[in-house]
Amino acid sequence: MRLILLGAPGAGKGTVAKMLTEIDGSVQISTGDILRGAVKDGTELGKQAEAFMKAGDLVPDELIMGIMGERLKEKDCEPGFLLDGFPRTIPQAEALKTLLADLGLALDGVVNLNVPRDVILDRLTTRRTCTDCGAIYNVKSNPPKEEGQCDKCGGPVVQRDDETEEAISKRLDVYNEKTAPLAGFYQNEGMLWDIEATSSGVVVNTIKEKLGL
Ligand code: ADP
Ligand code: ZN
Repeated sequence: MRLILLGAPGAGKGTVAKMLTEIDGSVQISTGDILRGAVKDGTELGKQAEAFMKAGDLVPDELIMGIMGERLKEKDCEPGFLLDGFPRTIPQAEALKTLLADLGLALDGVVNLNVPRDVILDRLTTRRTCTDCGAIYNVKSNPPKEEGQCDKCGGPVVQRDDETEEAISKRLDVYNEKTAPLAGFYQNEGMLWDIEATSSGVVVNTIKEKLGL
């Protein structure tokens, strides 16, 4: 399957993407994970992206398109891909359209995960992430078995730098301003699937139905 997952920070894009990879071997591509990895490794990309991310701002479109242009050509994308956190702006969506046309690939759909703002805020302040493998936990609803330690890889489970209250509120504003308009963009393309996203399991079943799986 080839899907875009749209939705505010904390809407559950990463969780849903991980569940979908288990259905047909499609790969999850999270630009946020790629960027956090680059920051951690201290690469040139990481150095360029770090300040934007920490402030809750978007990384410039050119950097993101550079990453995605390469990433979508990799062999593990052949069974399909779940784009998690990309595209995030209209220029990225336009550039993706050209990129997919060049690669001769079509999307199955664009999933728009709708979640009320109070649920989002609660999820983001209680969310914890493994810095090694990107696994997502929640201190209230899904804590790791050992506090601060990833069940899957043993890596450190921490609150992200951009999950302070200030950066969260900034990310939600940026989302409303820059990313929410993508719903209209894909609606016009006839590709938008609007889904109420309070439960990831229900979301995955709805997507499977739409794909005829
Ligand atoms: P979330 O969806 O929880 O906000 P992500 O992990 O997707 O978080 O992204 C974290 C940060 O990485 C964003 O706040 C932004 O700075 C940067 N980022 C990720 N994807 C993109 C993108 N497609 N375009 C621009 N910046 C991005
Ligand atoms: Zn881990």
